[in-house]
Amino acid sequence: MGSMYQTGLNKQTANYSSLTPLSFLQRSAYIFPDKTAVIDDDMVLSYSNLYRRCSSMASALAAKGITAGDTVSILCFNTHELLESHYSIPMAGAVLNALNTRLDANALAFILGHADSRILFYDTEFEPLVQQVVTAMAQPPLLVAIARLAGAPSSSSTLLYEDLLASGDPECSWSKVADEWDAIALNYTSGTTGEPKGVVYHHRGAYLAALSNTMAFNMTADTVYLWTLPMFHCNGWCYPWAVTAVGGTHICLRKVQAELVLDRITNHRVTHMCGAPVVLNMLLDNFRKHAATLSMPVKFALGGAAPPSPVIGRAQQIGFQITHLYGLTESYGPSALCVWQDDWQDLPPEELALKMSRQGVGLLGIDELNVGRLDGGGYVPFDGQTLGELLIRGNTLMKGYLKNEAGTREAFKDGWFHTGDLAVVHPDGYIEIKDRAKDIIISGGENISSQEIEEVLYRHPLVLEAAVVALADEKWGEVPCAFIALRDSPQVITDEEIIAFCKANMASFKAPKRVVFGELPKTSTGKIRKNILRDSLA
Ligand code: ADP
Repeated sequence: MGSMYQTGLNKQTANYSSLTPLSFLQRSAYIFPDKTAVIDDDMVLSYSNLYRRCSSMASALAAKGITAGDTVSILCFNTHELLESHYSIPMAGAVLNALNTRLDANALAFILGHADSRILFYDTEFEPLVQQVVTAMAQPPLLVAIARLAGAPSSSSTLLYEDLLASGDPECSWSKVADEWDAIALNYTSGTTGEPKGVVYHHRGAYLAALSNTMAFNMTADTVYLWTLPMFHCNGWCYPWAVTAVGGTHICLRKVQAELVLDRITNHRVTHMCGAPVVLNMLLDNFRKHAATLSMPVKFALGGAAPPSPVIGRAQQIGFQITHLYGLTESYGPSALCVWQDDWQDLPPEELALKMSRQGVGLLGIDELNVGRLDGGGYVPFDGQTLGELLIRGNTLMKGYLKNEAGTREAFKDGWFHTGDLAVVHPDGYIEIKDRAKDIIISGGENISSQEIEEVLYRHPLVLEAAVVALADEKWGEVPCAFIALRDSPQVITDEEIIAFCKANMASFKAPKRVVFGELPKTSTGKIRKNILRDSLA
């Protein structure tokens, strides 16, 4: 840079500060002190109240000896305590570790031990589980019980969340993080491919991811956001920070049940919500049963698993406006977005849904997405055909895995983050994920995308949900096996009819060779657990 651009002033507090999403709450509380920030079953909080509660808890945590770099964990549903923890814990300089509510005692004890967690906030609905966890640990964290709807803790000496909060100072002067690269959150992967890995997020990434998400999802101060996506999953794709940044209203939700969701949508005039395709499909099924549509449009950010285009098509008909997001825990949730192009509006609905089911292009916080050749070296051509591994670089990628330097280096080798997802690039530069590397089916040397078969199965009117996995086969190596949950219907259908339907709609060698009917196992975020289906075939 030429010297005339050296202004003689180095970076200083007046023109340079560490980026942190904590400033979002401070700002919204200043601008909208009386505006409703949170609606929960037992509490409605204005922005000023939310800020004061978070400040109180931050000072109470400090009084308990929590300092910079300590981990504080929380096991609870999408209630205001979990939302508050996204601010209070980092305001105390500590790292938020939100736990998956579906984990068993062993997995929770592993995580709390691995994270050196100092305090565990927990909803008393999990009392027996938490007691098991504590018994399994040599040095358990201090327990703080959230006793709201589901009673009191088993021991009267257990500290209560509300008491701890009340012991703090709502006027405390907490200090913003000194270095934006410091950790703000720790999220464990599901561990379906080995021990769970602790993914470390930094303040800078959380700030940028939250802002990118507000833009990707067109959020404003009028946003009423329904918490259908678990906040423990990649910090709810950073929406606890994003909704607060725009001064929107958070609608908490303890359990994701169709009736409850629809009730909240109507009663609180919800404008935005997020979820996996399975969650959206569950809502659509409910609308279908009641022959209902939405009375006003709701924006739905769909992601976490590949959305079959028929689900997108049906959702648009009911009145959901779909934003398709792709991402992983390591990328703070969303890292790709299927950006809308004006000339798509004239497409017939099915063709449009196909365009929208592609994962698209990088979100604002991402510098570059690319698809690396599987045979090593270089990137795949923009032909919509050649399969490679999706690679990402940018500012909303994790700091690394906790206590796992080798794993961190491996994930970031050659200057890219390696997603483990297989994708193609279309001539318009939009990427499309075809499968997770471990889900692709290799039959007679040909790659068959399980998602391509699922896409066809979802077009069948009797199919509610479908998942395709590899079945070992002597002749072909692997062949596709389809697991199908059917809609409630008096009509019956056989496996031969399903296979014939697939053959009529795709290259016949790709059609499933076996069909299994029944309910499909899901993760807490609504992803179908293909590993369990695969194991059931072994
Ligand atoms: P896990 O599913 O292992 O619990 P993640 O939430 O990190 O953990 O899952 C990320 C994975 O989910 C991605 O690597 C990808 O395979 C899948 N995924 C997420 N969003 C999409 C999407 N929009 N389309 C296709 N696959 C997706």
